[in-house]
Amino acid sequence: MVSRVIPVDPFDLVIFGGTGDLARRKILPGLFRRFCAGQMPESSQIIGAARSDLDDAAYRKMVGDAIAEFGGGRACDSGTLDAFLKTVHYVKTDAKGDGGWAELNDRIQQDRVRAFYFSVGPSLFGDLAERLHRFGLATPQSRIVVEKPFGHDLESAKALNATLAEHFDETQIYRIDHYLGKETVQNLMAVRFGNMLFEPLWNAQYVDHIQITVAETVGVGGRGGYYDKSGAMRDMMQNHLMQLLCLIAMEPPAKFDPDAVRDEKLKVIRALEPVEPHHIVRGQYAPTKNEPGYRDDVDDPKSRTESFIALKCHISNWRWAGTPFYLRTGKRLKARTSEIAVVFKDAPHSIFGVDAGRHRNVLAIRLQPNEGMTLDVTIKEPGPGGMRLLDVPLDMSFAEALGPEAEEAPDAYERLIMDVIRGNQTLFMRGDEVEAAWAWTDPLIAGWQDRNDVPKEYDAGSSGPEDALMLMHRDGRKWREIKV
Ligand code: NAD
Repeated sequence: MVSRVIPVDPFDLVIFGGTGDLARRKILPGLFRRFCAGQMPESSQIIGAARSDLDDAAYRKMVGDAIAEFGGGRACDSGTLDAFLKTVHYVKTDAKGDGGWAELNDRIQQDRVRAFYFSVGPSLFGDLAERLHRFGLATPQSRIVVEKPFGHDLESAKALNATLAEHFDETQIYRIDHYLGKETVQNLMAVRFGNMLFEPLWNAQYVDHIQITVAETVGVGGRGGYYDKSGAMRDMMQNHLMQLLCLIAMEPPAKFDPDAVRDEKLKVIRALEPVEPHHIVRGQYAPTKNEPGYRDDVDDPKSRTESFIALKCHISNWRWAGTPFYLRTGKRLKARTSEIAVVFKDAPHSIFGVDAGRHRNVLAIRLQPNEGMTLDVTIKEPGPGGMRLLDVPLDMSFAEALGPEAEEAPDAYERLIMDVIRGNQTLFMRGDEVEAAWAWTDPLIAGWQDRNDVPKEYDAGSSGPEDALMLMHRDGRKWREIKV
């Protein structure tokens, strides 16, 4: 299978925070891979902008090292790297001062798309937006890319939106949620809206429940200070899981157009009911013999921030009334995996009798690792043993279905950056979506704070606290196993 790589027009991309972790791990290696694939034209410019005292040569060395470390083994020869590094420049720029801005302005070329990637802490977004304007860098051709976290609550998200709106139109603002850049997430829309097979069944009449799991094996590591002010709800649930929920639950948009898609996602968030306190389970990973627990990691023996959260929610609209959505995410769990499972109802009557057991179709969409989909269907157990039933997966692993092409598929950041250059906002969050997500999240957080709720401890390497399992058991359901 040959996928088409359509080159984008030559562009200038300024990476504020160009020496930081995100730039080195994701943005720069991602751009290099697009360059190797022939999508990024050689006359484009990548301009690192940060406070460190570097020149072009030193920055190119840093970029080359980052690519060697995080580049990800695709076929690029060293000649390609040299050509790529020629597109890379550096301008020492201070977001909070006026140094470097005039030079940056001189470096950027006129009459082409210019994108400014804010790969810095959110406290600098306002300064950057304001200086881009004051120094004449912001043109109608400009786009800004902002990283998560987008606010800490509704109030701060509104303030951030208002600050950016002072200097940029909503059509110029690209709020990144890298989950939306994953191949499978877009495939989810293709599967739902490109096939006749699923959509007629995609509702409360046929779907028993939907579960979404985003599990990590790592703890909070060196991010303890930041994480403890945030927790799994703010760090993962409010953005990544909420976005997945929107895509799985939304109505078909009239067309695959940024605002049509985002209008439908917004309606899902607005239709979310408040979550009952007993439908929320929060947890913290316990220490093991060799490794510290959550509270040690964040250096606060009294911390009440959750490293795990599971909840059951409902969407009150015609399609989903009565269908529960179970969402969970956490750190230090059994395996690193992200999955959405649509669990269909039992057949209304079993002609095979009670001995045949209970069988149901499950459509599982794996986001990582090994992106793909599985549909469990019920068949007859082979052999002469009578009419015994068995569930077997129809498995579509993208790597198998698409061959080496799947490995060449751009990762989330690559795809999203190319979308910024092309001016396609479909996979980026709109300001009102982010605010609606916080409007749903804030009262839940306030609720457990008022109740002085203490997160339950769970074993590192487990599936989370026992209470999270009970959340589904009580309803006669169970979570799918967290496994690779
Ligand atoms: P980092 O601390 O590694 O890098 C920060 C960068 O900002 C550095 O290049 C630094 O020089 C620059 N900087 C700091 N103050 C500056 C100033 N006054 N003027 C100009 N430049 C300044 O941070 P990071 O991990 O790269 O994260 C950047 C942003 O991306 C943050 O908002 C973070 O929340 C977000 N993010 C990071 C990741 C990740 O994997 N690292 C993932 C998702 C979101």
